[in-house]
Amino acid sequence: MMRVAFIGLGAIGRPMAAHLARGPFELTVWNRTAEKSRVFADEHRVRAADTPASAAGGADVVVTCLPSSREVEEILEGESGLAAGLERGSLVVDCTSGDPAASVRIAQRLAKTNVGFVDAPVSGGVKGALAGTLTVMCGGGIAAIDRARPILAAFSGKIVRCGDVGAGHAVKAMNQALLAVHIWSAGEVLAVLARYGVPAATALEVINGSSGRSNTSENLFPERVLGHAYPRTFRLGLLDKDVSIAAGMAQQSGISSPFIELAARLFADAHESLGDEADHVEAVKLIEERAGVRIS
Ligand code: NDP
Repeated sequence: MMRVAFIGLGAIGRPMAAHLARGPFELTVWNRTAEKSRVFADEHRVRAADTPASAAGGADVVVTCLPSSREVEEILEGESGLAAGLERGSLVVDCTSGDPAASVRIAQRLAKTNVGFVDAPVSGGVKGALAGTLTVMCGGGIAAIDRARPILAAFSGKIVRCGDVGAGHAVKAMNQALLAVHIWSAGEVLAVLARYGVPAATALEVINGSSGRSNTSENLFPERVLGHAYPRTFRLGLLDKDVSIAAGMAQQSGISSPFIELAARLFADAHESLGDEADHVEAVKLIEERAGVRIS
């Protein structure tokens, strides 16, 4: 049976790991806050490791799902770090929404000890993770991705190889730039229409039967903005991080990308104004505040 270690039982990592716990894998989990891994291990009858090194020991594949590449690079280091426990010939599958350049750096570091690396960020939210229907965008060699496939298939409905190491993280960052543009522009549209006396529900009914619709207008806004209830499924701080990666990529590419740059600035503002615990859709509150309009 394939031995898998899962590192990072956060909002999305936990439901992803829960699919792996159902088998056919021998699962070990590690989380920075040990209480969370203990509760998970009790509930799913799997092993909770004390350190990243101990989680990686004996594992064929190690899945990481942390806030950013910075934390992935951090947990590799030190006596009890991941790298100290990784077996030669094993594979690290990074489901973090990370940075393409950091992925290349991590892959090079791991290759020195004959450990493979695939970047495999996911999309579909906590809902998709619970349902096991996430989309996974992979960067890495074909053989390494094929090796990761049975694990990724446990929580996803679509697995796409985007290119070499870093390509998965690159596509994810650009997808997030689109998400940010959709949220902000839908918020502006509804704020302007409010001034014209059109209720948000009416506007969304029309837009969702028209060419301006998006996942944001069809799902996120009806679920969250209309009722002014913002369950925290995906932290605003994480979307700020994603769009800032996208803006960095755009700058590096030398291609003029004013939308991406502006989205990065606006979401940095929203993050600063609403704090680290806000949900990503709550950015709309900043539009309301700046416009002096309540979207309802
Ligand atoms: P959360 O903030 O809910 O969880 C973060 C996880 O990382 C927790 O397990 C946390 O441990 C751990 N962690 C944080 N800092 C460190 C550190 N310095 N060292 C070790 N562990 C650390 O994030 P999500 O689960 O929402 O997101 C994880 C990744 O998935 C992110 O890259 C995000 O962008 C991406 N993603 C999230 C989606 C979502 O809907 N939530 C959707 C698609 C992608 P602790 O429990 O101790 O805090």
